[in-house]
Amino acid sequence: MTEHSSILALGIGEVLTQFQKRDLSVKELVQAYLSQMERTASLNIYITVTEERALKDAEISDAHWKAGTQRPLEGIPLGIKDAFCTKDVRTTAASKILGDFIPPYESTVTQNLWDAGAVLLGKTNMDEFCMGSTTTPEHTGPVLNPWDATRTVGGSSGGSAAAVAAGAALATMGTDTGGSVRQPASFCGVVGLRPTYGRCSRRGMIAFSSSLDQAGPLTRSVRDAALLLEVMSGHDLWDATSSRQAVPSFSKALGESVRGMKVGIPKELYDKQGTASSVWEKGRALFSEAGCEIVFVSLPYLSYALPCYYILTSAEAASNLQRYDGVKYGFRASPPFGKEWSSLDEMYEKTRGEGFGREVKRRILTGTYALTQGHHDVYYEKAISVKRLISEDFSRVFQQVDVLMTPTTPTDAFPLAEIPEDPVTMYNNDIFTVPVNVGGVSAISVPVETSLQGMPMGLQIIAPPFEEMSLIRFGGIIESCAALPPYPFL
Ligand code: GLN
Repeated sequence: MTEHSSILALGIGEVLTQFQKRDLSVKELVQAYLSQMERTASLNIYITVTEERALKDAEISDAHWKAGTQRPLEGIPLGIKDAFCTKDVRTTAASKILGDFIPPYESTVTQNLWDAGAVLLGKTNMDEFCMGSTTTPEHTGPVLNPWDATRTVGGSSGGSAAAVAAGAALATMGTDTGGSVRQPASFCGVVGLRPTYGRCSRRGMIAFSSSLDQAGPLTRSVRDAALLLEVMSGHDLWDATSSRQAVPSFSKALGESVRGMKVGIPKELYDKQGTASSVWEKGRALFSEAGCEIVFVSLPYLSYALPCYYILTSAEAASNLQRYDGVKYGFRASPPFGKEWSSLDEMYEKTRGEGFGREVKRRILTGTYALTQGHHDVYYEKAISVKRLISEDFSRVFQQVDVLMTPTTPTDAFPLAEIPEDPVTMYNNDIFTVPVNVGGVSAISVPVETSLQGMPMGLQIIAPPFEEMSLIRFGGIIESCAALPPYPFL
């Protein structure tokens, strides 16, 4: 056990060095992770475990190390959010409607990881179709927080965050449309990075809100996040919205000084602070000490970010989720006992009625409403205009400061028993993460301290589009100053 624990505590760079020196084989590492997955099974982190494939891939990776033909992530065991299509491996988005859907193709981001030698451990649990902030899907059940099993892991990439915290994967992939990588990262005490829209291909990522969805890594260190981002990113012929921007060596930004740089605090968000006040203060102290100038800046349109986000994403979700009709994918409801369907519509209605969970239905209904004739201009068109204003707010403040700083979440991970019933109260918790997506910028959440309840909390750094180098640089500073207790289970 102790031996396993020490292997599991290693970062990507350290693991690669040990492989290189033959101090550790990929097979040993993968086996250690597989047993840790078993040991933490009660947290409900994985929807599908791909043990056989992982062991086979480990052998291939070991052969590469032996032959000296190793690739950049050779033998690194990863968990992948069940929102990425993985060829020949069940992919469900935690929804009953996808049933046991087996994709015939691989998402570009995961393909990039496999091409770099990474090993798939399994598919992680999530909020259904990435909609939510608690990872409590009706179909696959809640994920429990490794720090305190009575608390939520956040969401929607909650399984991915918990896996990293519990040592049930070395690192994981999540998706972030409004905070789904950063918020669970904060609740589980791990690093979560949301790249700029277009940095990574969306091909093969199950679509929630196509104009905002983006893949992001969850890791135990900023360096690991940088290493994964280098491999995940890049232009893809299959996704016209993926960017042709060059992909830098993000990890090179680590250790660079931030002396003399300007960190902005968005006044509108600072005024709204709740229990995260200690995170604001910790951030201020930490960056002043590092020699940064801290300035208050104003982004007036940020107050409209939440309504704008929920209108846009629900509208896009309503459209994207039309394809689940009982014909093309997984699940189809059964006709009434002893009868045939009376019409095609009846089959659609029953299938969608039984196949989608409550939150997904709520978004489809809201989104459809926002798109109907008569409401389209008032809601959808308006939200598009507000989105532009928010992104202009960001461009303006980034002429004054290098990065922005906020807590990642207004509170620490709340108890599962206290998840608000009212969806709007729940949506309001996304106040710090959603503006990033709507504004088209990039952000990282790095654990900075523990709350009075002993739960981890993250500090968020926001950088201009395609300046993820700054996220790594500032993230590294936070990491080096933060004092967090050791990970549970490790
Ligand atoms: N909590 C947000 C929502 O429910 C975030 C979702 C996401 O980023 N996928 O929409």
